[in-house]
Amino acid sequence: MRVLLLGGTAEARALAPRLHPDVDVISSLAGRVPDPALPVGAVRIGGFGGVDGLRRWLRDEKVDAVVDATHPFAATITAHAAQVCEELGLPHLVLARPAWDHGDAIVVTSDTEAAKVVAEQEYSRVFLTTGRSGVGAFVHSDAWFLIRAVTAPDSDRLPRRHQLLLSRGPYDYAGEYALMREHRIDALVTKNSGGQMTRAKLDAAAALDIPVVMVDRPPLPPGVTTVGSVAEAVEWVGGIDAETM
Ligand code: NAP
Repeated sequence: MRVLLLGGTAEARALAPRLHPDVDVISSLAGRVPDPALPVGAVRIGGFGGVDGLRRWLRDEKVDAVVDATHPFAATITAHAAQVCEELGLPHLVLARPAWDHGDAIVVTSDTEAAKVVAEQEYSRVFLTTGRSGVGAFVHSDAWFLIRAVTAPDSDRLPRRHQLLLSRGPYDYAGEYALMREHRIDALVTKNSGGQMTRAKLDAAAALDIPVVMVDRPPLPPGVTTVGSVAEAVEWVGGIDAETM
């Protein structure tokens, strides 16, 4: 049985070795970051060329099922996979790590709305962790930003006053606490990515009484089968495997 595993996340890297080599897994990465952490087994890198490209690729490669373990904010590839799998009648699963509790955070639905909240609340020293693609919404902000991202945003997308911190998680509580204190942060802006790798910033912000602005997840396509853990995804693939044997 051949499974396309849409990845770019820790969950996808954890799932691949749980399936390989019994299942013929091909992991797919978007190719956004240089020198990505690679999962075991076969890997392909780069976009498929939209819905049509993905449909063609799945047919050409004789894929039997698709597991979408992309990041909860990777909404385009998730929509494409849902649409094409439905059209082709392919078993399709979304592995979405559980969201964080909002707690006392100010919840918004976009980076643009988050930027509005920063202006309205007059935050002045913001820890911005919404990733490379989210930074552009803050370009006209008067606040100072500590921007943490895996790869540098385009220079014309950066706010006037900022410091760039290029790094990749996981992050721990002590480090996040020290970082926010050192930079006298007065607000944390984050996506609701979920998972343990980057949640320490929320605990550190709570301890330091720093308000949090949280961008909520985009909705999943209607009707998709979803699980929240790697173990459940392994079980789901096992179920399909049994059906096709
Ligand atoms: P996106 O907006 O949903 O996707 C944009 C385009 O990138 C897709 O239409 C597709 O191109 C291509 N693509 C995305 N994921 C792909 C994959 N796994 N394999 C092959 N092509 C892929 O996605 P994004 O937000 O740019 O994220 C890109 C990747 O980075 C995802 O795989 C995701 O898991 C990972 N990631 C994203 C975030 C985030 O915050 N968004 C954080 C950590 C990791 P075509 O239309 O040409 O097929």
